[in-house]
Amino acid sequence: MSARADCLFCRIVAGEIPATIVHSNDVTVAFRDINPQAPTHVLVVPREHHANAAALAEESPELLVEVMRAGAAVAEREGIADSGYRLLFNTGPDAGQTVFHAHLHVIGGEPLGGMAQ
Ligand code: IMP
Repeated sequence: MSARADCLFCRIVAGEIPATIVHSNDVTVAFRDINPQAPTHVLVVPREHHANAAALAEESPELLVEVMRAGAAVAEREGIADSGYRLLFNTGPDAGQTVFHAHLHVIGGEPLGGMAQ
């Protein structure tokens, strides 16, 4: 899937919009959420555009695995791997998805309540 000019996260991946990058490799980029919900709140995105996690799973399942692996690497790097963290994909409007480029939330650094973000 090629980059989309109207996609915020495609533009962050391309370096056109600034972000605090904490991890990147050939297929993923991780950057701090602009509105963090916990002491650590990082978004991991595939470099390729896929609309959400379900589309990513259908279109490129191996890339979904790479996103999950990058999330675990971010947790290690942020020092929250042992205390625990949440990996979350909001998928679709009712879940609160606001950016329609698949992204994994990595949230932690304090005890997290409930299921929601
Ligand atoms: P969603 O609600 O699951 O789609 O998550 C989108 C996330 O992107 C939200 O947590 C926003 O705070 C975050 N966000 C929106 N714009 C930016 C940005 O420019 N940089 C970093 N994070 C952003």
